[in-house]
Amino acid sequence: TKHFPVRRRLADIFTGRRAVVHAVDDVSFTLRRGRVTALVGESGSGKSTVARLLAQLYPRTGGDLRLHGQTTHVRGGRRFRQYVSRVQLIFQDPFGSLNPVHTVRYHLTRALKIHGNAGNSAQELEAALANLLTRVALTPPERYVDKFPHELSGGQRQRVAIARALGADPEALLADEPVSMLDVSIRLGILNLLRDLKERLNLAILYITHDIASARYFADETMVMYAGRMVEGGDSETVTQTPAHPYTRLLIDSAPDPDRIAGIADAGAEDRGNGEPPSLIRPPAGCRFHPRCPHAMPRCTVDLPPRLEVGQPGHWAACWLYDADTVAREGIGAVGD
Ligand code: SF4
Ligand code: MG
Repeated sequence: TKHFPVRRRLADIFTGRRAVVHAVDDVSFTLRRGRVTALVGESGSGKSTVARLLAQLYPRTGGDLRLHGQTTHVRGGRRFRQYVSRVQLIFQDPFGSLNPVHTVRYHLTRALKIHGNAGNSAQELEAALANLLTRVALTPPERYVDKFPHELSGGQRQRVAIARALGADPEALLADEPVSMLDVSIRLGILNLLRDLKERLNLAILYITHDIASARYFADETMVMYAGRMVEGGDSETVTQTPAHPYTRLLIDSAPDPDRIAGIADAGAEDRGNGEPPSLIRPPAGCRFHPRCPHAMPRCTVDLPPRLEVGQPGHWAACWLYDADTVAREGIGAVGD
């Protein structure tokens, strides 16, 4: 049911000092090395699709994806291979992402070999394996390297999945709900590990989540998606403390407990809130949130709102409430009720 208009998607990935993704249309964003960028939305918002498009798991039917400013072609070629090793995806389900008939050694060796990082001897390979396991705090490595997935806890499996991604020596990690299937008590540990890796390896991390409170805790920058479009973005503190878009406010208001420690949202949190996101096959005209928006004005049902600056530099919302002329003319929808 997740049909998504990939046709108009355009993403640029740069990874120099200033780094990573810029895309036109509503999914335009920049990932920077050494920073976590959160992409927050309900199920069906298209946030996982963005990750899969960026990881090149879905073919694009249009758009432009760049690494270091250079276009990456959809399939094949040196730039494509370079791209897919620099940008690694971590899945939600650590149970499904590891093959149950193979050991940790197999999974990590395979990743190291595919990406040319396995060294030139058995000793070098062993050292590379130990290094990967140490990086994800599965120590001592020899305790874990010959285990099968079923001999590990969910959190340990997710650490192996992260180690496998690191085997490519990536510049960016795309983490799609990396803790939502894990036991509540170990979520924070995995987020802290990712944050630590971001610092030590200067990674750009895209953190995809339905849990806006964890974005505040974990991400430097937060972007909010609704019905396949990005509706708000800015630094995490600003977006979560002074949300500008009515949808972001709904997300925050419907979070189980806004002040709770991040990363421990319960599984039912995702679809709370007032109403359901619309179909992406035939989305509403104008602002896609207008059928649910308490501030909708006539213009909202007709014209798609552009990104508008709201207060802090870099904080924007795609909402007509931040267009003074529209509000002056149509009058309703006071901000900050
Ligand atoms: Fe609500 Fe209009 Fe803003 Fe959309 S553009 S969020 S309908 S006020
Ligand atoms: Mg998803």
